[in-house]
Amino acid sequence: MAELIAACNWQKVPNGVHEAASRFPLAISPYYASLMQRLDPGDPVFAMSVPQGRELIDPPFLSDDPLEEERHTPVPGLVQRYSDRALLISTTICASYCRHCTRKRVTGQRESVISSSRLSQAVAYLRQNPKIRDVIVSGGDPLTLSEEALEKILGAIRSVKSVEIIRIGSRTPVTLPMRITDELTCMLRRYHPLWINTHFNHPQELTPQSSEACERLADAGIPLGNQTVLLREINDDSRVLETLFRGLLRIRVRPYYLHQCDLVRGVEHFRTPMARGIEIMNVLRGRLSGLAIPTFVVDVPNGGGKIPLLPCKIVSSDSSSYLLRNFEGDHFCCPEPLHFL
Ligand SMILES: *Cc1c(COP(=O)(O)O)cnc(C)c1O
Ligand code: SF4
Repeated sequence: MAELIAACNWQKVPNGVHEAASRFPLAISPYYASLMQRLDPGDPVFAMSVPQGRELIDPPFLSDDPLEEERHTPVPGLVQRYSDRALLISTTICASYCRHCTRKRVTGQRESVISSSRLSQAVAYLRQNPKIRDVIVSGGDPLTLSEEALEKILGAIRSVKSVEIIRIGSRTPVTLPMRITDELTCMLRRYHPLWINTHFNHPQELTPQSSEACERLADAGIPLGNQTVLLREINDDSRVLETLFRGLLRIRVRPYYLHQCDLVRGVEHFRTPMARGIEIMNVLRGRLSGLAIPTFVVDVPNGGGKIPLLPCKIVSSDSSSYLLRNFEGDHFCCPEPLHFL
């Protein structure tokens, strides 16, 4: 490990903003840019969207496809890592590109939308694999598509009887909330049961416009979840996340996952120690309504899937009882049922 760390030469931070901008996709919507309060990397919105030389720090454990999605792609554009779920890459376009994106090998490199023939292939695969009951329409950002293009995709998925729910992953409520129009929600509500997971990372992203976007989706009967990425010096702080998660509940969005930053190229400066996330989760448990508390997960390298990480609450156990620790650090004994002794 020491050699590994020496090899990445992390202290030599190149000042290569131009190189970072050409290596990873760049676009910032005017609305999202307007949320910057200062034009320096100390501003969370700036840090999440403006290229920085630090993105060129390139230790060998980072890669373009850390989750090995390419290896789990049975037909082009469809990623399947679990037997009951599949993820469709519907477009490579986003309203704004995130510097921390895990799918930078796909997003924005070449802006394109899934072709009809790829969509038919994906649908044929879903038909042949009736165990898949949950299809995640992802990308890129599916809500950057026109209503017609998105409806074609949703209609094709809905034509497969074994698919029970459709989920859409979209950051437009955060980066382009004016995209959530009545025309869009009117179309979406024809494809229920439909769930949307969005991606707020910082309270600065909670604005009257993003609230209105989420409320409009919720009013169309779409349950909303949120996936936050834990990012160093942006939101790796229990006060910041407490404010964010409370704010999300107020706009009817349920915090779903807090993600440990994936091992993708260009994010070394965003990464936090695993213990940081666990400690934050421990603090939040005592401070926040359970509804506002997401699951902290690590999507492990080599396509192992998501693993939830919890603060360890079991002090000791034997066949007759468990000794548990609560959020204040106090210990409590919970007897097991007599029947099982
Ligand atoms: C995250 C992910 C899912 C969904 O996982 P859930 O835990 O059900 O939200 C499905 N497929 C892939 C490829 C994923 O990365
Ligand atoms: S919106 Fe999502 S897919 Fe698009 S750049 Fe950001 S993290 Fe990546």
